[in-house]
Amino acid sequence: MPPGPGTRSSEPLVLTETHEDLRRGVREVCSRFPNEYWRDLDAGRRYPEEFVVAMTAAGYLGALIPEEYGGMGLGLSAGCVILGEVNRSGANAGPAHAQMYTMGTLLRHGSEEQKREYLPKIARGDLRLQAFGVTEPEAGTDTTSIRTSAMREGDHYVVNGRKIYISRVEQSDLMILLARTAPLDEVEKRSSGLSVFLVDLRKAEGLTVRPRRVMMNNATSELVFDGMRLPPENIIGEEGKGFRYIIDGMNAERILIAAECVGDGRWFVEKATERACEREVFGRRIGENQGVQFPIARAYANVEAASLMVEKA
Ligand SMILES: Cc1cc2nc3c(=O)[nH]c(=O)nc-3n(C[C@H](O)[C@H](O)[C@H](O)COP(=O)(O)OP(=O)(O)OC[C@H]3O[C@@H](n4cnc5c(N)ncnc54)[C@H](O)[C@@H]3O)c2cc1C
Repeated sequence: MPPGPGTRSSEPLVLTETHEDLRRGVREVCSRFPNEYWRDLDAGRRYPEEFVVAMTAAGYLGALIPEEYGGMGLGLSAGCVILGEVNRSGANAGPAHAQMYTMGTLLRHGSEEQKREYLPKIARGDLRLQAFGVTEPEAGTDTTSIRTSAMREGDHYVVNGRKIYISRVEQSDLMILLARTAPLDEVEKRSSGLSVFLVDLRKAEGLTVRPRRVMMNNATSELVFDGMRLPPENIIGEEGKGFRYIIDGMNAERILIAAECVGDGRWFVEKATERACEREVFGRRIGENQGVQFPIARAYANVEAASLMVEKA
């Protein structure tokens, strides 16, 4: 199995020169997108297309794709440095981050043919694979309860069911889908009989996408599958083993998003410190009061502790 997101690497925990280079490069891209850019986007509920294009062109969203498939061939720690630095600069990696890690399922469990077909295009940004459909109205944390089914009928799988809270579907060409290929009452273990598919959203018939506003800066949709047909070559890995594949991917996702949160924390501590040093009330800067200093110091310590936890993960 090739090294990739979610697998332990031998990268050192201390920052290497490569990581410092990455930070500098990401900072340069982010400097082209000042705070006003993000504020306007938010006001207009627009997708940061220009930012995503710039990050892709610089190669950062293909960081975890091996070089032989056109990516940078870096490990999860480098991915954390990249996404963390985006948020550290006051930007939001959320709309772009899934292009970095969703392909991990394909990389770790896909066939050589699938990898050669899709990974170079994902690395170049010609294809966006930044949607994954797992959650359903009756199955959130309890993933094995999903009811969306993909049953073999002749030479195709036929998908029926419903997904909710699925992010970035409208900004993706491809989506990773988890569906039941064997009914729950026919499997020995609840985690068996689930399979992962690659859905080409550009060609999908029998799929209705209904945008639902859930969180700011995050485009989320409800998906209704009504007889959507998938060719067997779109299954990733072995039929029935999809639960494990999805959990593998979630581990990488959680660690990368934690790195973004650390980036956010550092940015907020910096902003709070600047404000405390410049705002004057009762004839002196508010930062001269311990009541203002202590919460900032506590936040700083918490963020640094969280950063160590991310590095350990
Ligand atoms: C903005 C946003 C974007 C999302 N994007 C995607 C996406 O792209 N793709 C996708 O598939 N899903 C997505 N989700 C769904 C997300 O993964 C689910 O919300 C999550 O899995 C939790 O499911 P739930 O909301 O149904 O919570 P539930 O499963 O109903 O759980 C409710 C609460 O109970 C807690 N809980 C449950 N069981 C226990 C227990 N045994 N002990 C202690 N606590 C427990 C849970 O931790 C949770 O806090 C998104 C959600 C949001 C809000």
